Amino acid sequence: MSVLHDVPTQQSPAPAVTPPPPSPRLVAAVVRGQRIAVPCPSWCVVDHSAENLADLPDLSHYGRRISLAVPQFSGDPELVLIAYMAQWPWATDEHEGRPYVALEACDSGDVTELGKRTGRAFADRALAHLAAFAALVDQLPEESA
Ligand SMILES: [Zn+2]
Repeated sequence: MSVLHDVPTQQSPAPAVTPPPPSPRLVAAVVRGQRIAVPCPSWCVVDHSAENLADLPDLSHYGRRISLAVPQFSGDPELVLIAYMAQWPWATDEHEGRPYVALEACDSGDVTELGKRTGRAFADRALAHLAAFAALVDQLPEESA
């Protein structure tokens, strides 16, 4: 009588494959009345063909806005933490043409620009605040249905 044992099959490790970087999406833009193709990030929602820019450095990319509706005692909820991706590819400011996250505390027009490190630091503080808020709510007695 022979006994068959489950012997794990040897598999050679899958070869490491690094995908090529995504090719930039090319879209039509209008500069001084001339249609040209420009790279546009996948998160951009701007219809560049609907603009007629004076110069190519005036071109900017903006993403979809997100916000948090906060209930108020009177009136409609207030939208806070309004944020979106943004990029001015030819800018020479602190972002040097790189994308950033634009953040408005409330709909006041006072926009700050956050890079990876400052944006992540703010997100961590906001998450801690929401966790503390949830802990407050969890102290409430259950509501009857
Ligand atoms: Zn764009």
